[in-house]
Amino acid sequence: MTATGQAAGPAEPIRAPEALRKKLAKIGLHCEADLLVHLPLRYEDETRITPVAAAPWGEAVQVEVVVTHCEVQFRPRRQMVVKAVDDSGELTLRFFSFYPSQQAALSEGSRIRAFGEVRGGFFGAEMVHPRFRKIAEGDPLPTEMTPVYPSTAGVANSALQKLIGKALVGADLADTLPEDIRQRLKLPGLARSLHFLHRPPPGTDVDTLHARNHPAWRRVKFDEVLAQQLSLRRAYLARREQGAPVLIARDDLGARLLDNLPFGLTGAQLRAMAEIAGDLAQPYPMQRLLQGDVGAGKTIVAALAACQAISAGWQAAFMAPTEILAEQHYLKLRDWLAPLGVRVAWLSGSLKAKAKREQIAAAAADAQLVVGTHALIQDGVDFARLGLAIVDEQHRFGVAQRLALRKKGNNPHQLMMSATPIPRTLAMSYYADLDVTVLDELPPGRTPIKTRLVADTRRADVVGFVRKLVDEGRQAYWVCPLIEESEALQLQTAQETYEQLLLDLPALTVGLVHGRLKADEKQAVMAAFAAGEIDVLVATTVIEVGVDVPNASLMVIEHAERFGLSQLHQLRGRVGRGPYESSCVLIYAGPLGEIARQRLKIIYEHTDGFEIARQDLQIRGPGEFVGSRQSGVPLLRYADLELDADLVEMARQVAEEMLTEHLPLAEKHLQRWLGSREELLKS
Ligand code: ADP
Ligand code: MG
Repeated sequence: MTATGQAAGPAEPIRAPEALRKKLAKIGLHCEADLLVHLPLRYEDETRITPVAAAPWGEAVQVEVVVTHCEVQFRPRRQMVVKAVDDSGELTLRFFSFYPSQQAALSEGSRIRAFGEVRGGFFGAEMVHPRFRKIAEGDPLPTEMTPVYPSTAGVANSALQKLIGKALVGADLADTLPEDIRQRLKLPGLARSLHFLHRPPPGTDVDTLHARNHPAWRRVKFDEVLAQQLSLRRAYLARREQGAPVLIARDDLGARLLDNLPFGLTGAQLRAMAEIAGDLAQPYPMQRLLQGDVGAGKTIVAALAACQAISAGWQAAFMAPTEILAEQHYLKLRDWLAPLGVRVAWLSGSLKAKAKREQIAAAAADAQLVVGTHALIQDGVDFARLGLAIVDEQHRFGVAQRLALRKKGNNPHQLMMSATPIPRTLAMSYYADLDVTVLDELPPGRTPIKTRLVADTRRADVVGFVRKLVDEGRQAYWVCPLIEESEALQLQTAQETYEQLLLDLPALTVGLVHGRLKADEKQAVMAAFAAGEIDVLVATTVIEVGVDVPNASLMVIEHAERFGLSQLHQLRGRVGRGPYESSCVLIYAGPLGEIARQRLKIIYEHTDGFEIARQDLQIRGPGEFVGSRQSGVPLLRYADLELDADLVEMARQVAEEMLTEHLPLAEKHLQRWLGSREELLKS
C-alpha cells in the first residue's frame, strides 16, 4: 500500500497543498476524517447520454455532441457561444466566463460530453455554463453516479471527489454503533452507508438519493444527531460529577412567602417547585430549564427556589437580560422577601458609583439574594456563598455569560428560565444538556386576550379604541415597528408615533420608552407607567420581555407583519395580566405577502405559545428559532429536526446507553462526527 493509501488517523491533516487546505478549512474540512463524512449535496447522472432532441427542458441531463462552431462575442456582453450537434439535433452552449484552455477544448470538431439543464433559448435548445469534458469517440461512460459536494470558491467538485475518494481507501469506518443497538434500530452499517452515499452503485434512483430518506441517509442523520446528543449529555453528566452545595431549607421562609401571596400556586407551579426542591437537595448541581409560556408564573417558582437556598444558608443570584426587566424583578422580589427579613441587593450598570460599591460589597458579604443585569457577572463582583444561579430569559444570554454567572460561585445550582416555547423535539435537541420542566398551565382567572388584525388604513379606529379604554381606567402599550436594518430609523419611527399620538390623544398622558434612553430614564418611564401615571406607552421592542403591568389591557403593535411570531406572542403576553378584558391589535400594512399572511393568521388563531412555536417552526425552520445559541444547530448538517424528529428520540436513548455502557465507542463516535467542532457545543 502506498503512503496515501494508509488508514487516516482521526486528526491527520488533509493530504493536499497548503493553499487548498486553507480553502477546505473554510467549509469545516480540517482532517482526513472530516472528508469521510462530507457528503454529497446531490448527484448527477453521467452514466447515460440523452439525445439533444429528447432532452426535457429544465432538467439536468448529459449530452454528447460534436462542436461545429465556437466564437467569442462581445455584445450584448462578452461570452463564448458554441454550436454543437448530435444525431438528433443542434444545441448552443453559452459561457459568460471561461478560460483559454476551455476555449481550446471547444474548438471545431471536438467531441464533448456536457452536463447541464437544457433550456429553450431564442435560437433553440441551449445550455448555459454546462460542466463539460472533451472525450474521444467511444470513450466509456462512467458507471457510477457523480456526487456533487458542498464546496467553496476555488475548490472544484472533481478535486473534492478525488480527495474524498482517496480518504475512503483504507479509512477506518468501523461502526461506532454497537451491533445489537444497530440491529434494534434497523439501521444499515456505517461503512456501507458512507460508501453508498459517496459512490451510489450504478442504477440507483437519483430521486431517492435526493429525497434523503434512503436508509443510508437515515443512518448518517442518526449518527449526526447521536453525536450531538452524546456531546450534550456528556457535558451534563460531567457537571453532575462535580459536587454542589446541598440546599436543604432550615426554616420556613418559603412557606411564609407562600402564605403572604395573594394567590395560590397552580398545579404546574407546584410540580415545578417540587422538582426544583428535589434537585437543590442533591450533592450535585441542578441544571434545569424552567419553560413556561408568557404569564405562566415562572418568577414565583424562582423566588421559592431562592428561598430554599437562602434558608439553607446560601446566596441566590437572579440575572435578567434587560435593565427594565431586572429592575422589575428586583422590586417584586424585594416586596415579597424583604418583609420576611431577606436581604435583597440590586446591581445594574445604571447605578451611581457609590450605590454600586455598596451593592457589590453586599454581594460579597451578607446579601442573601442579588438581583441584576449583566452587571452581576462583571469582574470585581464576588459572592460570599453563591448556591443558586437563576437566569431569566436565558436564551437572551450567551453561553459565556451563563457560564460566567456559574463561575461566581463554587459550582452552584443553576435554574434557567425561558418563555420561548419550543416544540418537544427541538427542546430535546437544544437542551439535551439540561433537565426541562414545563409550566403547562396558566394561572386561573386570566381573561383570554382578544386579537384583532387591522389594516393601517384604519388607524383612526384604533386611536378611538385607546381613548375609550383609557376612559374606563385602563392603560395601553403601543409598540412601534422593528426596523432591523437601522436602529436610528427605528428610533425615529418611535419618536414620530409618539408625537402623532400626542396630537391624536390630547387629553391623555403619552409616554415613550426605547433602547437609547439612559437606564434611569427608562426606569422612570416604566415606573410611571406601572404607577398608572402614563396612559399610553409608546415603545420599541424594549418591552418585549417580562414587563408586568396588570392594569394595561391593550397592546397595539404597528407593522405587525415585520415581527417574528414568538415576538408577537411575547408582546401580546404583556396584557391580560389583570382581571380586565384585554386585547391585542395587530396593525398591518397591506398588501401582505403569502408568508406574512400565514403568520398573522397563526397568531390570530392561536394563543398557546407552543402551538404558535410549532407552526412558526414549519414556516421558518429551526435555524432562526431559538436564537444564536444554540448548541446543536451548527452541528446538524444532514438531519432536520422537524422531519427527523423520530431520530432525535432514538438518539437520545442511545446516547444514555452508550455513555454508560459503551464509553470508548461513544468517544470515537464524537470524534468522527464532531471532531474539532465539538468545542462549539460547550456550554
Ligand atoms: P412569566 O412566566 O411570564 O415570567 P410571571 O412570573 O411574570 O410570568 O407571572 C405573571 C403574573 O402572574 C404575575 O403578576 C404573577 O404575580 C402572577 N401569578 C403568578 N402565579 C400566579 C398564580 N398561581 N395565580 C395567580 N397569579 C399568578
Ligand atoms: Mg418572566
